[in-house]
Amino acid sequence: MAIDDIFIQAFRTHQQKGDLFHPLGHEDHEVFQASTIGALMEGVYDGDTTYGELARHGDFGLGTFNALDGEMIALGGRFFQIKSDGKAYPVPPTAKTPFAVVTLFDPTVQVVWPDPIDWKQFQAAVDKAVPSKNVFYAIRVRAYFDHIRVRTVPRQRKPYPPLVEVARRQPEFEYGRLEGTLVGFRFPDYTQGVNVAGYHVHFLDKAETLGGHVLDFSMREAVVDIDVTSQFRMEVPECGAFLDADLARNQDEAIHEAEN
Ligand SMILES: [Zn+2]
Repeated sequence: MAIDDIFIQAFRTHQQKGDLFHPLGHEDHEVFQASTIGALMEGVYDGDTTYGELARHGDFGLGTFNALDGEMIALGGRFFQIKSDGKAYPVPPTAKTPFAVVTLFDPTVQVVWPDPIDWKQFQAAVDKAVPSKNVFYAIRVRAYFDHIRVRTVPRQRKPYPPLVEVARRQPEFEYGRLEGTLVGFRFPDYTQGVNVAGYHVHFLDKAETLGGHVLDFSMREAVVDIDVTSQFRMEVPECGAFLDADLARNQDEAIHEAEN
């Protein structure tokens, strides 16, 4: 069977069982987000949400840090900061974020896929199988990576440049033959600007020593777990540059360049 069919079957099984959306005891199951990607695009790199607060909303997710100091990945309740050297560091609960997305990861759909598959093929397979493109998917993939290319963002100084400019000089790293985990989300197209429409995925190696924002990969022996939810909650900063930022612009192109 092709991977597309395996994904389709996996979603269909849970749809038929009626447990795709956490029906029992999970009324409050949600994706929680601090601030917006649109504000980040405009150079709002300081937020007022601490990682201690964020951890109450989720044990799984991604984001960044104040002053845009690296990529964040959260897995199993542990938060890591991937700095511009490409290495993973533990995050103190007092650290703050200008943008982060988390959830209490509780997947329903699982797909196991032994054969090699690249990033584009993976996205195409999930796109074809999801029962709706208008709800939220948290995605975890544990796999063996023949090759993976990631980037990080370097710490910025004020006055902050827009994210597109930072992304043009971002440090990129390539790794081969290692085990690791992808942590990410698929967001609806209508959320572009609030979040990233489509896929946004970060990587952490199995030894928890390195990672980053995923640009490309080829993986195999993949175990894919997907958490589907219809609930999305967002809190924006109550002080700082966010309040005065001009967020009325269409940022579709900039988001594509900086985040996809
Ligand atoms: Zn990212």
